[in-house]
Amino acid sequence: MPDSFQLAFDFDEFEREDARNNLASWQGAPLRFTTDYYSPDELDTAFAHWRFLNGGFGSIPLSHMWHEAPASGSNISFGEHSIVVLTADLRPEPGVIGPGELLYQAICEPCDWHQISHPENSVVEAWHDHAVPGWRELPVIPAQIRVRTETGLTKLAQAWIAEHYPKHMQIEGAPIITERTQFGTRHVPGYSPWNGYDLSSTALDTTVPPRAETIVTLNRRPMQNEALELRPASTLRTPDALNR
Ligand SMILES: [Zn+2]
Repeated sequence: MPDSFQLAFDFDEFEREDARNNLASWQGAPLRFTTDYYSPDELDTAFAHWRFLNGGFGSIPLSHMWHEAPASGSNISFGEHSIVVLTADLRPEPGVIGPGELLYQAICEPCDWHQISHPENSVVEAWHDHAVPGWRELPVIPAQIRVRTETGLTKLAQAWIAEHYPKHMQIEGAPIITERTQFGTRHVPGYSPWNGYDLSSTALDTTVPPRAETIVTLNRRPMQNEALELRPASTLRTPDALNR
């Protein structure tokens, strides 16, 4: 009915005006870009509130706020760990300098762990360093083996993986590594046989960079996993655990 629609509309406007006048009382995550740790829900709620206040049109580039990255595999967990990948658009408008890049953030909520960097692959790799020790030693599925068709993993790939991957890594959320060309190097969530990532072999060409250079790492509990993050990739190996 038109009357009730009008009432609902007026109520929203009233709420919006009220919220705009009481920004100081906002208790959630900042209504702007932040590098501090907040849970995915807190960031999602803050972005929704920004859109409630300012409207949804252009909210991603205008707010620079974190929101879930497209097709980012936020339902993956491995052991006690889970991953949510968010993105924030800090790219300048055409002809303008700054403020930054299209950034990505991986969050492991059970650990209050997060990392911010770009591109997307780098935070996915950082999460695997955090949650899946030894992943860099997993066998690389050769390019000659067709891994997927439109209907999913091929029988050949499944057999190869079952034979070559360590048994203890054939579990929920575990990744596979596939040989890729220089194109198509995105790490694809949900494409391992166990709903983990299909990681591009190009990940193995990168070494863990010094923390200050390219990656922002901010933990609520800074001691947790600190030693692991600071080690170069070569010391993350656990050969005994990865015997075939
Ligand atoms: Zn974790």
